[in-house]
Amino acid sequence: MTKRFAVIGNPIEHSKSPQIHQAFAHQFGISLEYNKRLADISEDGFEQAVQALIKEGYSGANVTVPFKFKAFELCVRDSNDGTISHSAISDYAKSAGAVNTLTFSGDKISGDNTDGVGLVTDIQRNLNVSLAQKNVLLMGAGGAAYGVVLPLLTAGAKLTVANRTHEKAVKLAQAFSANTFAQVTAVEYAKLATFDIVINATSTGLTDDLPEGISANNFAQGALAYDMMYGRQTKFKTLAESSNKNIKFADGLGMLVEQAAEAFYIWHGVRPDTTPVIQQLRA
Ligand code: NDP
Repeated sequence: MTKRFAVIGNPIEHSKSPQIHQAFAHQFGISLEYNKRLADISEDGFEQAVQALIKEGYSGANVTVPFKFKAFELCVRDSNDGTISHSAISDYAKSAGAVNTLTFSGDKISGDNTDGVGLVTDIQRNLNVSLAQKNVLLMGAGGAAYGVVLPLLTAGAKLTVANRTHEKAVKLAQAFSANTFAQVTAVEYAKLATFDIVINATSTGLTDDLPEGISANNFAQGALAYDMMYGRQTKFKTLAESSNKNIKFADGLGMLVEQAAEAFYIWHGVRPDTTPVIQQLRA
């Protein structure tokens, strides 16, 4: 039987998820339908989109901007009219307070967050850079940053967070240090030392700005500069490339494909080969 999946967002036209999931499915001879769903940004728009998918017999959905927090809410309570009941939520989704992967079973809905696993897999497996005991700077304290903290800590990173609005970095560090096995340190940009790995989880790639506060001084010799943004020459990339510290740069395309692979595993129980899919998207 052909199972049906969707990605829900607003806007949604740009999404590469259908292409990625179809490429994975092809590797296993799995037949699936994977559609884009534009949800209304009104108060109930996301919930209505999910209700429609369940009614139409869909098996699951990915969730993208701006609905990951709404998806989390829906996974920890029943729907407003009682037609959807929540069942389970993963630890990664709980720690992020955000969900990017929904699984439907009858009227039950469960939530996961695969963004952080996607990032960690891209860094460790695809880029061959170990996170264990590395000094890692996470720039930004928005949704993307929250989503990757627990998987980074689980991989053994020594994590510092810095954000333009420092209070938000402090809040993030406190939230994780209180609930997890490892400390997260919040430091103001002006007081930052140098790091083995610098992850740009700010939205500056979208606005073509250099993240306020970062400079070449914050990269150790041979550091990895990882930009969650992909598909354009960001100012963060230019900064990394123009420093003469032998910096290795990576964009977020690998993270995108790896988070999709983790969602694919949740839904189908098999792990796709991501390398040819990343290559195909780069081409
Ligand atoms: P949010 O809007 O939730 O957070 C934005 C963050 O960027 C805030 O911490 C904000 O700081 C900071 N920021 C914005 N402008 C500047 C600036 N000029 N200088 C310094 N900091 C700045 O966005 P998200 O967390 O949802 O997304 C962040 C990025 O991650 C996006 O580019 C998104 O595309 C990417 N992403 C990529 C994924 C992938 O698979 N590759 C997956 C998920 C996200 P402040 O608090 O001070 O406003």
